[in-house]
Amino acid sequence: MKKFEPRPGWVVQAFRFALDPNASQQQALRSHCGAARAAYNWAVSWVSASWWQRGAEESYGVSGQHLTPWRPWSLPALRKEFNQVKKTDPRFCRWWQENSKEAYNTGLAAAAAAFDNYAKSKRGQRKGQRMGVPRRKSKHRARMSCRFTTGTIRVEADRRHITLPRLGTIRTHESTRKLERRVDNGTARILSATVRLERGRWFVSFQVEIERAQRTPSRPEVAAGVDLGVKCLAVMADSAGEVRYVSNPAHYDQAIKQLKRLCRRVSRRQGLDRRTRQTPSKRWLKADLERNRVHYRVANLRADALHKLTTTITAEYATVVVEDLNVAGMLKNRRLARKVADAGFGEIRRQITYKTGWTGGRTVVADRWYPSSKTCSGCGAVKAKLPLHVRTYHCDACGLVLDRDENAARNLAALAAATGTGVAGDQDAQASKPRGADQKTRNTRPSRKARAGWAGGTNLPHQRQQETGDRHQVTEALRLR
Ligand SMILES: [Zn+2]
Repeated sequence: MKKFEPRPGWVVQAFRFALDPNASQQQALRSHCGAARAAYNWAVSWVSASWWQRGAEESYGVSGQHLTPWRPWSLPALRKEFNQVKKTDPRFCRWWQENSKEAYNTGLAAAAAAFDNYAKSKRGQRKGQRMGVPRRKSKHRARMSCRFTTGTIRVEADRRHITLPRLGTIRTHESTRKLERRVDNGTARILSATVRLERGRWFVSFQVEIERAQRTPSRPEVAAGVDLGVKCLAVMADSAGEVRYVSNPAHYDQAIKQLKRLCRRVSRRQGLDRRTRQTPSKRWLKADLERNRVHYRVANLRADALHKLTTTITAEYATVVVEDLNVAGMLKNRRLARKVADAGFGEIRRQITYKTGWTGGRTVVADRWYPSSKTCSGCGAVKAKLPLHVRTYHCDACGLVLDRDENAARNLAALAAATGTGVAGDQDAQASKPRGADQKTRNTRPSRKARAGWAGGTNLPHQRQQETGDRHQVTEALRLR
């Protein structure tokens, strides 16, 4: 997928509004999202059918050019084929005209991206977790979402309605002033719109290219180190020597007592069971709604608090140093996971990174093995070990006594000076790894389940790999295409 490049001086940003559709609009929204899923499933089946076919042919001795050709999975190829199929295939021919073509395009584009990601991951050209073979989406579990890239997409001048192709004009719950004002005076251009059902409510998010007024931080020459933690959500130390503690609101922990009570109530009522075809009772639905409302409130409170925190940080400092935490690893630890997920470490770093970009500052990411807690911020001595329960740092070399997190934050702030001062555009600069740094987090071995994933095969990319002990050898042998 080609990424959209904004004009110089402009940024791409999203504007999201809750929708208030009427009954027939809700029906149309559901129809469009379902159409996107149907197109996705069609594309997955169509491409992988050729894989199965080739596998079968190879098994009875057909080889080389006599095999059924591979089917392409590029978006234009899928679109071309789908436009033929939709008119004749009994799965689509009776209803495809009811939805905008953008709905089908959403599904096909997602399938093309899924196959691309799978192929790249297998060739080792993709960072992050290994991607599995694209599989069909379930009606019961798939996210209801549909993206519009062409046609009539606009926010109405009354600031309470939006217009989308085929769906028409839909009322919004909130004022669209923030976006409409910009569109009106020419500092914003809408690129696309995505509707989606989230927590029982429809949302539209516009992808917009906007011209942001350049806001410079109030103290551009000062660098700040941010140490994230569970006890204290963030400890900020700046190069001017000021230290600030941000307490952890722990929204989930606040609501846990209430949630336990509501969950208990839900489990005592007759819920949905697909195996016995038990439909949920009215009382169950009511209790479920009440429970989910608490979950939504917690999520909203968290999102609000994180935005406020990262906005205050980036409004003040141009250079912010954060740690490269292994959040995914911490979430695997069942003793840490709840607190870590509640704090939202990963989100804080993501927000700081893009918000410093807006203010012309930069984010420095300290190396994952940089010993920020073990180093003395006074003399630079590095301790070999510092267990988590030790909350105060005692330096053996110079006798410094300091709060553990404050010490770490000071070290991070000092790291900014070591990598040069605020150069705009130099984002995500990796701080160098000092000598003597050892592993702070245990390098978690991939689980057995993860290793024995959908690794694919030469003749049948669907084949399940039993044991892929030597991953390098396997990727060599099972080269795609
Ligand atoms: Zn010291």
